[in-house]
Amino acid sequence: MFKKAEVPKKEKADIRILMKFVGSFCRENHNGEKVPFTFKPFDIKEIKRKEIPLCPDCTRLLTYGLTMRLKCPHDPKPMCKKCKTQCYSGDYKAKIREVMKFSGMCLVKHGRLDMLYHYLR
Ligand SMILES: [Zn+2]
Repeated sequence: MFKKAEVPKKEKADIRILMKFVGSFCRENHNGEKVPFTFKPFDIKEIKRKEIPLCPDCTRLLTYGLTMRLKCPHDPKPMCKKCKTQCYSGDYKAKIREVMKFSGMCLVKHGRLDMLYHYLR
């Protein structure tokens, strides 16, 4: 059996946030059929124990986001806005912006400005 690799520690927090953002965005904005998110290279249950039901679009977006985060060639990772490697492009870029904007508003509502400054670019 193929054994899944462990998620690198420093990426864990980012990945968790990304999943949380896309998950709540989908929950609040999309209807229709959803399936719990799975991500092949890693066992995401290790990061998040709750299942995240996502529509097909958000599944694609989150898969892309996680893949790019793991492939990020910079260490430490700079703020994405200031990064030369613009890994989000086209449709994905527009979508992740929407997700970030939505999640940013949620964070403000819940008084989590600390997270906002840390994760929004
Ligand atoms: Zn969705």
